[in-house]
Amino acid sequence: MIYSGKAVSVQMLDDGIAELKFDLQGESVNKFNQATVQELTEAGAALKADGNVKGLIVTSGKNVFIVGADITEFTEMFKLPEDEIASWALRANQAFNGIEDLPFPTVCAINGIALGGGLEMALSCDFRVASTVAQVGLPEVKLGLFPGFGGTVRLPRVIGVDNAVEWIAAGGQHKADRALKDGVVDAVVAPEQLKDAAIALVKECLAGKIDHQAKRLEKQVAITLPPLENMMAFQTSGAFVAQQAGRNYPAPMAAVNVMQQHAGMNRDQALEVESKGFAKVAKTPQATALVGLFLADQAVKKANGAHVKKGAKDINLAAVLGAGIMGGGIAFQSALKGTPIIMKDIADKALDLGMGEASKLLAKRVERKRMDAPTMGKTLSMIRPTLNYGDFGNVDVVVEAVVENEKIKQSVLAEAEGHLKDGAVLASNTSTISITRLASALKKPENFAGMHFFNPVHMMPLVEIIRAEKTSDETIATLVKYAQKMGKNPVVVNDCPGFLVNRVLFPYFGGFGMLMRDGADFQQVDKVMEKFGWPMGPAYLMDVVGIDTGVHAAAVMAEGFPERMQYDFKDVSTVMYENKRLGQKNGIGFYRYEEDKKGKPKKVVDEATYELIQPHVAARKEFDDEEIIARMMIPLCTETVRCLEDNIVGSAAEADMAMIYGIGFPPFRGGPLRYIDSIGTEAFVALCEKYAHLGGIYQAPQMLKDMAAKGESFFG
Ligand code: NAD
Repeated sequence: MIYSGKAVSVQMLDDGIAELKFDLQGESVNKFNQATVQELTEAGAALKADGNVKGLIVTSGKNVFIVGADITEFTEMFKLPEDEIASWALRANQAFNGIEDLPFPTVCAINGIALGGGLEMALSCDFRVASTVAQVGLPEVKLGLFPGFGGTVRLPRVIGVDNAVEWIAAGGQHKADRALKDGVVDAVVAPEQLKDAAIALVKECLAGKIDHQAKRLEKQVAITLPPLENMMAFQTSGAFVAQQAGRNYPAPMAAVNVMQQHAGMNRDQALEVESKGFAKVAKTPQATALVGLFLADQAVKKANGAHVKKGAKDINLAAVLGAGIMGGGIAFQSALKGTPIIMKDIADKALDLGMGEASKLLAKRVERKRMDAPTMGKTLSMIRPTLNYGDFGNVDVVVEAVVENEKIKQSVLAEAEGHLKDGAVLASNTSTISITRLASALKKPENFAGMHFFNPVHMMPLVEIIRAEKTSDETIATLVKYAQKMGKNPVVVNDCPGFLVNRVLFPYFGGFGMLMRDGADFQQVDKVMEKFGWPMGPAYLMDVVGIDTGVHAAAVMAEGFPERMQYDFKDVSTVMYENKRLGQKNGIGFYRYEEDKKGKPKKVVDEATYELIQPHVAARKEFDDEEIIARMMIPLCTETVRCLEDNIVGSAAEADMAMIYGIGFPPFRGGPLRYIDSIGTEAFVALCEKYAHLGGIYQAPQMLKDMAAKGESFFG
């Protein structure tokens, strides 16, 4: 053994060829934590010192090669001052240089996923052989960062500027054949041939058939394009990247700038530039939020794993009651992801509509070559439309999605319960009705919970699983499992008006209503909030949700939380509703909707909206952006805190992820609670106090005040 550590080991094979193997003890995958980087430095030194080694292959002892850096270490590390982060990155780079500079040929055998630091490791070898199942990429921009282990230096020198900009700025994960086509790897072989192929390549170098020195040198010198072409390459691709990423995501453009800056330098100078640039992006609020988001996503998965462990049943057959917008969507998604589903309605016409919608969605997939025709046929045949309860005795999970009427739902649920086998789980997709009250109509309330999908079901990643007073852990476990099987991200919450997402969303609409009352222009508010990062502003969002649905839900919220959500003025949404302006669904709401060339609704300004609301609002006036943002965001953020305080949601991570997945909260801001953190709990309480005179939705919850007094934050 030449070197033996907890993550890296080096041993001699035959013919003077050594194998450096990554195999992180106690973990299912390899990742570059600080200890692994340290061991790589030591292993490189041991290899250099060993006089007998003639060549090296680098391998993995896991199913993956290396999944990337250990992101759990980032939060603490990125709290360091910028120059210390830069020094850390430069030091870490010595480990990679140590491998690149070894006095013999080196070949990396990429057996599976090699992302971020994993691919950067491979790039520090002279050659890369990938298995056909390998997946490679530099996805750091998705965390608001860019590669910091030499990726921005080596990749453009290996595959050219244009390709490198695309790989780094888009952060994609690519299959082995694409990596071969772009020159990121030098060969692709079957998994079982990988190690032999890597050894054979080392031997060819040793036999002088391949010049590994020349290959290595390319990575260590300036990029050889003439200066003008060089500049053009960066400028053209840079402009494209800037346009794609948008101003809220600075990392891709920062990566392009860094690559341009060090293009004319040798490796060591270039690495210094990369390290400094990396430290700069690491300190951006976007990196903090996106790294936080990654960790929150892990935390949600862990919480869901714990739920599933509490007795999830197998789901071999599902059923949905109601073939409308939501029922049809649920049936489609269930079938698409492999769970056969019975779709029951009371009207033949509704069943035809539901099946028609599913076929349309599947046909689109076939058209886009994301599915073949036989799979489409098979998927459609997994949805069984029916008008009766014939097969309900075999069903494992039923989701009720009939009209939003408490009496009808109670009677439909009780009727369905009578046809189910013992232990089958029943759920309601209601948006506004208390799950505990619906449960009161059932004989086995323990087998019942809420399962709240968002519209359109196939697009929206969130499903709220709502626990009522008597819901059992097994029921929650089974619904979490079913949502996951459908490819969704479930978040488990406790029952209350609006559950988690609508309870938080409606105070935001409340803030919008007050701004309108005080004379703000809805178009200005939409523009400001879109610039802030929302996919659509509040007026546009209300149009998309449906103004009738919004007005109804607002009334439910007002009844549930009268001290905060009962307003003493006529809301502009009510004015729209009274004038039969229901939003996109009937072509007119705050905006008017015309069909664009693709048949999609396109919003246009309608002056009549101003005339209709004018008698109910103050004279129109301009608000500054900062005030609009504060008046929209405070109610949403404080209500999120209240949900945590009232134990509606189990953790800050779950609350933030639900808002991102459920209503498109700007991901680069990390979620409402991380947004409060970014302002500081104390400063946020002060902001609440500034606007507290507007009403209850602006008042800081006790939990936030306590945290501010103690100097605490949600994410540490
Ligand atoms: P919808 O009006 O499009 O569909 C309701 C369907 O239920 C109709 O096809 C109707 O024929 C059928 N139905 C009525 N009584 C029935 C019965 N006894 N048995 C079987 N089917 C019956 O409504 P939708 O928009 O799909 O909403 C359904 C549920 O989902 C509601 O509770 C709603 O609040 C909730 N929801 C809707 C949205 C949304 O954006 N549309 C989002 C989340 C949740």
